Amino acid sequence: MGVWKDTEEFMNYIVFDLEWNQSPYGKKQSNKKLPFEIIEIGAVKMNEKKEIEDTFHRIIKPRVYKWIHECIREVTHFSYKELSKGMPFEQAVQEFLEWCGPEFYFFSWGDQDVMELQRNMKYYHLLDLLPGPVIYYDVQKLFGIRFENRKSRRALEYAVDMLMIPKRKHFHRALEDAEYTAEVLRCIESENILPNSSIDVYQNPKSRKDEIFIAYPTYDKYVSREFEDREHMMHDREVTSTRCPVCGKNARRKLRWFLHNSKNYYSVSVCQEHGLVKGKIRVKKTEEEQYFSVKTIKLITEEEALEIREKREAVRRKRQEKKKDEAKKRNAE
Ligand SMILES: [Zn+2]
Repeated sequence: MGVWKDTEEFMNYIVFDLEWNQSPYGKKQSNKKLPFEIIEIGAVKMNEKKEIEDTFHRIIKPRVYKWIHECIREVTHFSYKELSKGMPFEQAVQEFLEWCGPEFYFFSWGDQDVMELQRNMKYYHLLDLLPGPVIYYDVQKLFGIRFENRKSRRALEYAVDMLMIPKRKHFHRALEDAEYTAEVLRCIESENILPNSSIDVYQNPKSRKDEIFIAYPTYDKYVSREFEDREHMMHDREVTSTRCPVCGKNARRKLRWFLHNSKNYYSVSVCQEHGLVKGKIRVKKTEEEQYFSVKTIKLITEEEALEIREKREAVRRKRQEKKKDEAKKRNAE
């Protein structure tokens, strides 16, 4: 028998993967509250040494989309007959969370599965079982940090090939993909995993006291409460503050917040001690048409600051051209 120290403190590593279906008749007939209906849950439970201890697999009978979208069929090789023998989502997800145990970390390939799991749970009024915001580990991101430049987003099969993990099974089925993801995770050392968690903001903060502040190794992240519109949000002092990620002091603004495309604001500030600081605010809209922001703050080089300045110039030029065009039109009328 093995002797386990600190057993109570260890969190299970739950590596999971979902397959989902979507409207076979395109976006128009898609259910807005559930554009992707989960049809399969596969998961692997790992211990502290990243050894596989157990697996979980359920097929779910679809209720929102009664036919399988052609591209889903091609990728997953699911037949409708197979799915019709599945269990209701409510039962599958409750069994899944029970199987996960009281304490666990979620791992998945990419950032979509954690969100879709919550959206499906909300649809069936089960979101209380998984209180947010959900902290998890995105193995696709961890792979990028450990083996490539940080920003790369690779397919699971690419990572499997690169790490020379033997390929015995199909891709794009939930349990197989969870197992492959677990194999990739085993190649990443804990010191490259633990500081690089991700936060899913599908269940976004509702009030000031729920707002989120996280310091990552190379940047700070802040998730605001909700606002009724963008203007109110961009006038909030906390949303627009730019504190140096190293010392926490207010960095002096060099380039005011500007809207780059419809979703992202940028700014550049300077900390007297630590240099240039980039601010980025991503505007998010909830299903209830409320706005909130995800802000990241990081130190940057002169070159990167120049790139942001050029972005702003491009926005300004575009706006001027638009004005000119409108004036021309008016004159022609
Ligand atoms: Zn500083």
